[in-house]
Amino acid sequence: MSDVDKPKKRDINKAKTKVPMREQAPQDRIFNFEEVPLGYDENEATLEALRCIQCKDKPCVRGCPVGIDIPAFLALVGERRFEDALRKIKEKNFLPAICGRVCPQEDQCELVCTLNKPDKGREPGGVGRVERFLGDYAMEHDLTITPVCAAPTGKKVAIIGSGPAGLTAASDLAQKGHDVTVFEALHKPGGVLFYGIPQFRLPKEILVREIDGMKEMGVKFVMNYPVGKAEPLDEIRARFDATFIGTGAGLPWFLGIPGENLNGVYSANEFLTRVNLMGGYKFPERADTPVKKIKRIAVVGAGNTAMDSARTAKRLRPEVVYLVYRRSRLEMPARIEEIHHAEEEGIDFQLLHSPVEIVDDGTGAVGAIRCQEMELGEPDASGRRRPVPIEGKIKEWAVDTVVISIGQGPNPLLTADCPDLKRDPKKGTIVIDPWMRTSYPDTYAAGDIVTGGATVILAMGQGRKAADSIHRFLTTGDPADPEAGQGDVCGNLT
Ligand SMILES: Cc1cc2nc3c(=O)[nH]c(=O)nc-3n(C[C@H](O)[C@H](O)[C@H](O)COP(=O)(O)OP(=O)(O)OC[C@H]3O[C@@H](n4cnc5c(N)ncnc54)[C@H](O)[C@@H]3O)c2cc1C
Repeated sequence: MSDVDKPKKRDINKAKTKVPMREQAPQDRIFNFEEVPLGYDENEATLEALRCIQCKDKPCVRGCPVGIDIPAFLALVGERRFEDALRKIKEKNFLPAICGRVCPQEDQCELVCTLNKPDKGREPGGVGRVERFLGDYAMEHDLTITPVCAAPTGKKVAIIGSGPAGLTAASDLAQKGHDVTVFEALHKPGGVLFYGIPQFRLPKEILVREIDGMKEMGVKFVMNYPVGKAEPLDEIRARFDATFIGTGAGLPWFLGIPGENLNGVYSANEFLTRVNLMGGYKFPERADTPVKKIKRIAVVGAGNTAMDSARTAKRLRPEVVYLVYRRSRLEMPARIEEIHHAEEEGIDFQLLHSPVEIVDDGTGAVGAIRCQEMELGEPDASGRRRPVPIEGKIKEWAVDTVVISIGQGPNPLLTADCPDLKRDPKKGTIVIDPWMRTSYPDTYAAGDIVTGGATVILAMGQGRKAADSIHRFLTTGDPADPEAGQGDVCGNLT
């Protein structure tokens, strides 16, 4: 682009719709694990940023769980000041390449964007797309914006779990000068970002780079270390001045129907971990952990995890991938983009069907999935219309693999070890006070282990809040923020 073509500072792009993003074509991408959306180039990102009208009210900032100054970074991109824009984002979010890809912007910043007027055919600003561009720009130009760490405080903090909550807390605490050690049960750090979300949605190199940056800041990582088994929580607490728990919600739920113990039934977590983390589809040539050779597979559920499982299965080249869901398309909890990609890739949606049995093929393995046909009744407590069985309408599909993806709860490994750590009696989640402190005065918690299965950005926002509290606790003895407003408190410890 010549200087003449460059947009001027006050230029505005009045286009009603987002600058389109190039993607791998469905017929190509189902044969590889490469990323599907290809991202913006500099011109596309600049044009999209110039759609922001810089409204005074800035609802997008309130819509962002970590409060990124979105109009400010978009204005900088509009001026092609990409490095400055990146610095602006990094004030609040140290993982823009990740959040730009996986955050549900359509329910957060973009939902409340002043431009967002679907009835007038006008789309919100493409905040996530520009954020992703900046994260990628930093990598392509080897721009390391390493935060300056404060002088060492001599205080030691243990972080248990290396998902987005743990990584955010670790990064923030290292910046404040504390000596931080992350303990992770698996052999790679990143939590769901590494073992759950597939490569075609979130290339792992991005995560590896961010974690390398944290190591440069002095954060230590101890892998293959399931706290509660490798070492009791109490012993960790005795070795450190403060402890943070971010162990996520990795315990899968099952349907409780006959046949769930048959060979060929996986939880979504196990299936995705085998394929994404352990490369099970390359067994036996290049990986030790097998994943069954699939001909016909049914994935049960309709959240992001179910879409990831179905789309991952599709890349293992079976004859058919069914997605079985008891409600209709409208009620699916997955991101719209993921539903759309799954449809494009030929996933066979069997909506308004609820599994009642997984049928034995006579050898102890999966032979079929039997489902009850449903219709939608009145809304239930979640506000979504309740699925109601249609009497006598049962269908069966021949399959050899079933992946159950109906949600997950907190992993009890760590908490089983410390019965007096207060938990929600029903959900098993750790109970915290308004400052993210657990019932142990030196121990804080955040992310899915507190909320139940939620989102990356919420986990990060809570991780940051916990880090602030831990810092105050270590420096003043009191985690409470004297300047916090009513909206800043989020605890449930009573
Ligand atoms: C397949 C899938 C797809 C998703 N897609 C999206 C998406 O597109 N967008 C979005 O915003 N959210 C998505 N989510 C949800 C999001 O990933 C989670 O909300 C988020 O990762 C929670 O972060 P966390 O740090 O609390 O926990 P996690 O990411 O679960 O990390 C917890 C870490 O703690 C470790 N751990 C557990 N127990 C111990 C122990 N005893 N000792 C040491 N380490 C331990 C685990 O191994 C893990 O690495 C998805 C979730 C899944 C499963």
